[in-house]
Amino acid sequence: MAVATFPHMNEYSPAFRMILEELGHEVIMPLRPSKRTLTLGSSFGPEFACIPLKILLGTYLEAIEKGANLIVTSGGVGPCRAGLYASMHKEILRSLGHDIDMVVFEPIRHKPLDLLKSVHRLNVARLMPWQLFDLLYRAWQMISYLDQLEHLLHWTRPRELKPGTADAIYRAGVDSLCKERSLKGITSRGRQAVAEMKAIPIDKDADPLKIGIVGEIYVVIEPAANLDIERILGELGVEVHRSIFLTGWTKENVVKEGHRVKAGMVARPYLGEMVGGHGQESIGHTILYAREGLDGVVQLAPFTCIPEIVAKSILPAVSRDFDIPVISFFLDEQTGEAGFRTRLEAFVDLLARRRSRKRQEKQPA
Ligand code: SF4
Repeated sequence: MAVATFPHMNEYSPAFRMILEELGHEVIMPLRPSKRTLTLGSSFGPEFACIPLKILLGTYLEAIEKGANLIVTSGGVGPCRAGLYASMHKEILRSLGHDIDMVVFEPIRHKPLDLLKSVHRLNVARLMPWQLFDLLYRAWQMISYLDQLEHLLHWTRPRELKPGTADAIYRAGVDSLCKERSLKGITSRGRQAVAEMKAIPIDKDADPLKIGIVGEIYVVIEPAANLDIERILGELGVEVHRSIFLTGWTKENVVKEGHRVKAGMVARPYLGEMVGGHGQESIGHTILYAREGLDGVVQLAPFTCIPEIVAKSILPAVSRDFDIPVISFFLDEQTGEAGFRTRLEAFVDLLARRRSRKRQEKQPA
C-alpha cells in the first residue's frame, strides 16, 4: 500500500491529508521544517540549489524515515529550476537508496490532461467524479477559511489590546477547523473561527505601518523558511500584506485572472518578460502596494533564486519612481535570526520616521 506524504506549507497540511486519505492512502504528515530538516536537505541536496529544494528534500527524508513511499507534489513551468525540482528530488532520493514513487501536479493551464492522469493515479479508492468534486470542494473550503483567518491575523496583530491574543485565537481556530471533514462542520467551524478573530478587542485608533511582502512563493508562504517574518513584523506593530496565499495562487493557475496577472501587467514597463518563479510579480506587487499607500515592501527570496535576483536589480528603480522603500532578504541555511530581526527592526524604524516626517510636511505652516 502506498504511504503518501507531501511538502509542508504553512497550515495547509490537514486539507492535503484529508484529500489523500479519502483517495485511499495512508498519510505521513510532513513535519514543520526545522533545523534538522534543513540540515538533511543541505547535506544531500546540491550546494547551489535554492532553499525550497533543500527544505523539501529534508521534509521528504523525514517522512521516508516514518515509512512514506509516495510523494505528492507540484511541478512548475517557466525559465527557472522549479520544473526540475520533482525529478531532482526523485533522483537524489533514489541515489540514497529510497525507492519512492512520485505524483507531480503540473500547472493545470499548461498541462490539463496531466492533472486528470495524476488524480486518476491517486484515486485508489475509486471515488466517482461527484465524490471527487465533493472532496475537492471541502478541501477548498478548508483552505479558504485558513487563508481568511491568516488575513485577519495579519490585520489584528498590530491592533490587539492584549499582545498574543490574536495568535492564541488563530491557533485555536485553525486546530478546530482542521478536525472537521464534513462540509457542514468545516463551514460552521470556519465561520465561528472568523467571528472569534473579528471579536478580539483592538485599539480602534491604531494606525499601524503597512508593509507588503513579495517574493518567491515558498519562502513567502512557509514561516519556517522565512524565519516567521510575519510574526516578527506583527510584534513590531506592523500590518502585513502578503502578496501570495494558496487560494489566490490556485485561482490564478486555474484561470488566467486575478492579482498575479494584474501584477504581471503593471510590471511590464520595468520587466516585459516572464522570468520564471514570481520575479515579475514581485515588481508588479511592489507597484500595486505603492499605489495602495503602503509604507514599504519586503522582498523575500531564496539565495541563488534567479527570478528574484532579476527582480532585485529592478526594484531600486521601482522604489524611486513610486516613492516606496524596499528591502530585500535572500535566505539560505546560513541566515541568522538575530541579524534578520535587526535589519527588519531598522527598516520598520526608518518607515516610522519617514511616515511622521511626511505627515509633518503636509501640515499647514
Ligand atoms: S523560483 Fe527561485 S527558488 Fe523557486 S525554483 Fe526558481 S530559482 Fe529556485
